[in-house]
Amino acid sequence: MRIGVDLGGTKIEGIALGADVPAAIRRRVATPRDYAGTLDAIARLVAEIEAEAGRTGSVGVGIPGVVGHATGLVKNANSTWLIGRPLLADLEARLSRPVRVANDANCFTLSEAVDGAGRGLETVFGVILGTGVGGGIAIRQRVHEGPNQIAGEWGHNPLPWMTNGERAAMPACYCGKAGCVETFLSGPGFERDHERLGGGRHSSQEIVRAAAAGDPRATETLERYSDRLTRALAAVINLLDPDVIVLGGGMSNLPALPSAVSAALPRYVFSDTVLTRVVLNTHGDSSGVRGAAWLWPPDVEA
Ligand SMILES: [Zn+2]
Repeated sequence: MRIGVDLGGTKIEGIALGADVPAAIRRRVATPRDYAGTLDAIARLVAEIEAEAGRTGSVGVGIPGVVGHATGLVKNANSTWLIGRPLLADLEARLSRPVRVANDANCFTLSEAVDGAGRGLETVFGVILGTGVGGGIAIRQRVHEGPNQIAGEWGHNPLPWMTNGERAAMPACYCGKAGCVETFLSGPGFERDHERLGGGRHSSQEIVRAAAAGDPRATETLERYSDRLTRALAAVINLLDPDVIVLGGGMSNLPALPSAVSAALPRYVFSDTVLTRVVLNTHGDSSGVRGAAWLWPPDVEA
């Protein structure tokens, strides 16, 4: 049995995967806003799942950050009470077993690579388009993390082939640079772009509804978004040449986004034909927690 835990900013979710494990074994609790409470909550979640399943399992945990290879300490987490803490060592001590911890975007990608939209394909680039823009790379159903543990972080590359208008706008990014892909392709970036070009201050959902009702400004905002996503993904394809790009996060639900991007990719990719598929994820909100379980891979006994 494989237990996956998704440690989110607002909730901690746990599931159990296994050939004869009921799919209904699933637990969800609010995330305590302190470190000791978070460790307690995860240990309790695992104990409850194991009690219900009547057996023990391997444990993988997805976190909004990474545990640094050199230090063993959490970094780059927006749940700030985790930063600088030896999360992996503490979890292994609490659970009395080896534990695997990975970034949540990497867990999303792994889930889709193992038995989701990227099933059976060698190289999967997973994309999160949400309040931030992240990503992950899975090669043969393993996360490719890299020595700096930032593989797949395309959100903080500059938007490629900028137009004069984009160059003039150059939105500042929280990372300290300007013009990052995230500043254009996150939900807030999409809303800012609509406002900057005279569409007014509206939520993403309102802009999508307005476009569906025939509002030309909203339609143009959607078209700019799709073109920017195409450019940013073309740069990823030129570097990684993945078999499939799996879109996730709230902004991936913009109407017809995968087909629009697929159709436009040949304009930007350094190849006459583009065989890389761009698809929506299969497992939705459950991909993170499922991928955490798959940190113990399919060909390893759990
Ligand atoms: Zn940035």
